[in-house]
Amino acid sequence: MEKRKLVIIGSGPAGFTAAIYAARANLNPLLFEGFMSGPSGGQLMTTTEVENYPGFPDGILGPELMDAFRKQAAKFGTKILTEDVVSVDFSKRPFIIKGSTTQVSAESVIIATGATAKRLEIEGAGDDQFWQKGVTACAVCDGAAPIFRNKPLFVIGGGDSAVEEAVFLTKYGSRVYIVHRRDELRASKIMAARALKHPKIEILWNSAIDKIEGDQVVRKVRLKNLINQGIEEREAGGVFFAIGHQPNTDFLGGQLELNPAGYIVVKPGATHTNVEGVFAAGDVQDPTYRQAVSAAGSGCMAALDAERWLSHEEIV
Ligand code: NAP
Repeated sequence: MEKRKLVIIGSGPAGFTAAIYAARANLNPLLFEGFMSGPSGGQLMTTTEVENYPGFPDGILGPELMDAFRKQAAKFGTKILTEDVVSVDFSKRPFIIKGSTTQVSAESVIIATGATAKRLEIEGAGDDQFWQKGVTACAVCDGAAPIFRNKPLFVIGGGDSAVEEAVFLTKYGSRVYIVHRRDELRASKIMAARALKHPKIEILWNSAIDKIEGDQVVRKVRLKNLINQGIEEREAGGVFFAIGHQPNTDFLGGQLELNPAGYIVVKPGATHTNVEGVFAAGDVQDPTYRQAVSAAGSGCMAALDAERWLSHEEIV
């Protein structure tokens, strides 16, 4: 079994930044970048233009930015494994990290597995129903597909993501409806104003979709008014979930302390988890900021925390 001082799990801005710092500190890191769990690079791989990452005044495409992160991590000697981590054993040191084909022992570990878009259990939205046949959780990834062209499209949610996705979808749909369960958007004022004044967007307040119907693809949604329980059917070409994210922690098997929303709990202002030698960075431990730049910053912190801890333990 391969032995490492540091194993990093995750390949978004947090994971790759941790790798860059750790590799430059001669920790010889090994990074699991995932495979079936999603594209290497994390959530920015499903974004188009990133306009708020400092250093790129003209913006940069999400996949291009992540490709540069990956190259920089590899350049300094990070070994990157394109496989998912199936399970970990943090009960004793060295820790054991089980990938889908490779097993590694590690003196320290950084978890940077990010978060995944949440789905709703609506009749018709299941994997064996219209999921990926008109129902998706990522407008930016899927919105340009021909099935959505010139069709009424429905985005569920009331946060910044819902507004962002709805605005994005106006390029393709005939009309875009934001289906929100309350009578006020959670989105920031500037984003909310964008939705409210957009000629192709209509907000369906106090509403929910309770059934999705179609043939090969989505054709119809059933809307429920949550105030008067009124039911209405509308033609639909697509349904997009934009109701937030779930941190990716299943493979941890309950071995780290999580908060009630499922985020890894870290020491305030640092990246230490409740298991000594295990650190967490990026969206998997951040219910508040969830930005690429804050994830990258916490990846740097995790590498420095790991390095100090390894040195304190006289492992390096
Ligand atoms: P969010 O802010 O948590 O909003 C989730 C939305 O989904 C809320 O409106 C919520 O309704 C609704 N929702 C949650 N569970 C639901 C359910 N079971 N049924 C129906 N509706 C449900 O998530 P987000 O929009 O993904 O944003 C996450 C973070 O990223 C935020 O900090 C946001 O500011 C940031 N972000 C920023 C940008 C940008 O600036 N360009 C873009 C995207 C995201 P309630 O309001 O009733 O709770």
